[in-house]
Amino acid sequence: MTPTTVVVGGGVIGAAIAQQLARRGAGEVVLCEQGQGAGAAATVQSGGLLRQHHTADCDIELAVRGLPTFQRFGELVGGYCGYQPSGFALLVGEAEVEALRLNVDKVKAAGGRTDLLEPDQLAARYPGLRLDGVAAVAYEPDGGYGNPLGMTRNLLLAARSDGARVLDGVLVERLVVRGERVVGVRTNVGEIACTTVVLAAGTWSTALADAVGVELPVSPRWIGLGMSRSATKSGYRVPACIDDTSGNYFRPNGAPGMYFGVSWEPEVPPRSAFPALRSDRIEESRDARLHRVPARAEGRLAGTRLGVDGYTPDKRPLIGPIGPEGLYVATGMSGGGFKLAPAIGELVAHEIHTAGEHKSLMPYRPQRFAAQEPIVPEFSYQWM
Ligand SMILES: Cc1cc2nc3c(=O)[nH]c(=O)nc-3n(C[C@H](O)[C@H](O)[C@H](O)COP(=O)(O)OP(=O)(O)OC[C@H]3O[C@@H](n4cnc5c(N)ncnc54)[C@H](O)[C@@H]3O)c2cc1C
Repeated sequence: MTPTTVVVGGGVIGAAIAQQLARRGAGEVVLCEQGQGAGAAATVQSGGLLRQHHTADCDIELAVRGLPTFQRFGELVGGYCGYQPSGFALLVGEAEVEALRLNVDKVKAAGGRTDLLEPDQLAARYPGLRLDGVAAVAYEPDGGYGNPLGMTRNLLLAARSDGARVLDGVLVERLVVRGERVVGVRTNVGEIACTTVVLAAGTWSTALADAVGVELPVSPRWIGLGMSRSATKSGYRVPACIDDTSGNYFRPNGAPGMYFGVSWEPEVPPRSAFPALRSDRIEESRDARLHRVPARAEGRLAGTRLGVDGYTPDKRPLIGPIGPEGLYVATGMSGGGFKLAPAIGELVAHEIHTAGEHKSLMPYRPQRFAAQEPIVPEFSYQWM
């Protein structure tokens, strides 16, 4: 029997895995997505911020590895991913300067382009920023943002043109296990036999795994964004930015727009009908927490995004085989899956195709919590 892999979920992670499996000619590849196109969940709402700076070595490695795919998407995958190298800046206060310096060194050692800047040096590049209370900046010229929905659609198109079957509106109701192995999936349009199932169904992966006796430490969390539109045509002259002094983040949005983080009750479980962000919360984030961009005062609020992602206890992905033979999970992206998707797609496809292990994925194994070996950053910050 030709090895057949069913990927459950057509968000950016499932799409990246299916595209890489199909490109390698790794047997039959079938992707089931309950929604349409790029799915119905985190990916569609994602802010798409791209950076290499992380606090855990394994995350830095994946982010650096994936950057060329964003930069050369047309050539490597086909179509566009909306990559905009607006620059990325991480702003920290006095107490975090040493950690910042050490993490900048780690990003450089992994092959990323980054510099430690004085606030004045950043202000000279981006006159639209106000930097009071900032003691140091990690700056990445290649950071910025992309278009998660556009990228996922193009990954799915590329997977299709390399022979994968991408099924829209196909809900996987349960995994079919015979003896000790997965032999298929039961969907709303019938059963699909397979040798491997990759659970990339975001936060909904837990219910499918649970039903075959596999407990995944992933819980749903809301992530909200507000969108502000500038009063002037030149827009907001800002990089993609994480402000560790206030816990806020924002990024420019092409022409005159800017997305910014809006906090939302994280414990509310996802429902079929999504609630909307409340206006008082959006105003609060824009006016009090978006202090760093003075020009936002003249702009107007223009929209919101609200989505659910699966979070793990150490806020890092769960990637690897677990439970019955043939079951592999790639979930729990914990609010950061977009920027890691190209590397996750490449390395998961490698592991499935070769039935081997890749050292860069070893820290992410789902068994790490039972073994009491969560990922612990060496040098962390207040918020990040
Ligand atoms: C508002 C917001 C802002 C974000 N900002 C950033 C950012 O700036 N940078 C960054 O890197 N990351 C960001 N993220 C996180 C990132 O978008 C996610 O980590 C990533 O999109 C997760 O992708 P996924 O494929 O794992 O999950 P999802 O996108 O949730 O995809 C899972 C898919 O599985 C499908 N599915 C579920 N169950 C089934 C089933 N039984 N059968 C068939 N299909 C099923 C769903 O319909 C869905 O399409 C943000 C997320 C949100 C919500």
